[in-house]
Amino acid sequence: MGKKIFLCSICNINSGTCNEDCKFCSQSVRYKADIERYKQKPIEQIKQEAIAAESNGALGFCLVTADKGLNDKTLEFVCSTAKEVQRVAPKLRLIACNGTASVEQLKEIKKAGIKAYNHNLETSEAFYPQICTTHPWSERYETCENVNGVGLVLISGGIFGLGESQADRESMLASLTRLKPTSVPINFYHHNPALQLNPNPLSIDEALQLIKLTRQTLPDAQRIMVAGGRELMFGKRQEEIFDYGANAIVIGNYLTTTGRAMHKDLEMLHALGLERATEVGA
Ligand code: SF4
Repeated sequence: MGKKIFLCSICNINSGTCNEDCKFCSQSVRYKADIERYKQKPIEQIKQEAIAAESNGALGFCLVTADKGLNDKTLEFVCSTAKEVQRVAPKLRLIACNGTASVEQLKEIKKAGIKAYNHNLETSEAFYPQICTTHPWSERYETCENVNGVGLVLISGGIFGLGESQADRESMLASLTRLKPTSVPINFYHHNPALQLNPNPLSIDEALQLIKLTRQTLPDAQRIMVAGGRELMFGKRQEEIFDYGANAIVIGNYLTTTGRAMHKDLEMLHALGLERATEVGA
């Protein structure tokens, strides 16, 4: 029996309205990237996306908002959306990804039936000021600690290919070992011409080695998930990510870029003799 691959789908329920200046993020209003921007995705559309994700074998469904962190209005929207989604797609495990969050806010998230919270460290503490000047890395770390503190499942990882050094990558992974995330999403920078960063300099072989390094550094993490940038980074070699330690992928579209059709990923797993995970585990 082959190893089981966890499939997760992400739903950008609020897009492109963030005032922060993260240099890799096309959702910042500062860079005027040519993306779709809206305050709240219509609930019917969210429900349809959840139903499609569930019927394509996703176990995780992540409600993402583009902002530095939760406020009362966003919290209410996320919690009410979670309840609606649970009604139409009860097999999905709900994840929230809404930026920095306090213990009190995370308790509300948990009460709404959401099981996990995703907040990425993004990169090392030392490199972070070069990619973001509007909030400190320490706030990111503290939110992850809050997630652990309220008993939500912590999902935390980062993004490679921003111009960081190998020492920065190792430092971020070392920070993650202290936080003990259950799932570690790895993103590969997808360049948008409106952004000030240079295009992702990583080769496919280097990116595969980073998956391996993540797996080796976080042996207790249940899932190493290749998330944003998979198709662009690996192209025809994306099947190889599973040989280097990945056991989870995001299927369907990403936050502001289009992923390939979900059925193509299911066909890829089948051709590789890999099974789709049917139970979440932790
Ligand atoms: S805080 Fe989040 S949504 Fe806002 S610019 Fe940074 S990465 Fe993008």
